Amino acid sequence: MPIYEYIAVDKGCSYCSRGFDTLQKFADAPLTTCPKCGASVRRAITRFAACINEPDEEAVALEEKLTGYEKEGRWSHAAELADKSGLQERAMDNYKKAGYNF
Ligand SMILES: [Zn+2]
Repeated sequence: MPIYEYIAVDKGCSYCSRGFDTLQKFADAPLTTCPKCGASVRRAITRFAACINEPDEEAVALEEKLTGYEKEGRWSHAAELADKSGLQERAMDNYKKAGYNF
């Protein structure tokens, strides 16, 4: 499951004003409010899946590979790679382009 980071849009409590991580199922709708205080939050960065702390070089290599697949129209390859790397939204996009229906 991907980890999403959210941060308060404007003013929030001590929990959301500094940003918080939450583990969500892929199908879950994104949060719009802080679970503690109800302030509006937006998604900050989608991190790589939990427990993978990849060095930047690898992230760059991954990005190049993904972009390569996408340029070539190899959507299912790109989707699988994105999926494995915790890039769920990207994977979803590519799966759709590959003709999968969810
Ligand atoms: Zn809050």
